[in-house]
Amino acid sequence: MAEAVHCFIGLGSNLDNPTDQVIQALKELQDLPDSTLLSCSSLYRSDPMGPQDQPDYINAVAMLDTLLSPVALLDQLQALEQIHQRKRLQHWGPRTLDLDLLLYGNQLISCERLTVPHPGLTERNFVLWPLAEIAPDLKFPDGSLIQTYLDQQPLGTLQRLP
Ligand code: ADP
Ligand code: MG
Repeated sequence: MAEAVHCFIGLGSNLDNPTDQVIQALKELQDLPDSTLLSCSSLYRSDPMGPQDQPDYINAVAMLDTLLSPVALLDQLQALEQIHQRKRLQHWGPRTLDLDLLLYGNQLISCERLTVPHPGLTERNFVLWPLAEIAPDLKFPDGSLIQTYLDQQPLGTLQRLP
């Protein structure tokens, strides 16, 4: 049997009770096929990226082991996004749930549907801080340490929620 791969998923929401969206999504990640949820970060509140006339985001990062291929895992994540977005199809605009595949073991993936490590990973404090909370000794596929990037992307207005 194939060996499970250690993955990290970034979660974000800024609509329809974002805290509930993220907590619900974490529960749904527990039920992914051929996968085991290993741990979750705290929830974090972040300022919106880009246009400021939208609500704050709630972010978190989850760590899981999976036997799914990267694209099969992306399919599962996108299916969960669909479930969450279907609740509010009458509105347009920001998303109720964004699930990003941040890291898939030490693999570098570049295909039409998937870029891993996720391109924004090392530039976004709302990804780096929750990631470092659950994996403080993490090394990226290029050998760099997460702690290096935390120094470059300080907490700023990002808030870890109790
Ligand atoms: P973003 O997360 O950048 O705000 P979306 O969630 O709408 O935007 O992303 C849309 C596309 O990004 C998806 O169709 C997916 O195929 C692609 N994508 C590329 N790499 C990744 C990744 N590592 N995780 C999730 N989606 C990715
Ligand atoms: Mg996304």
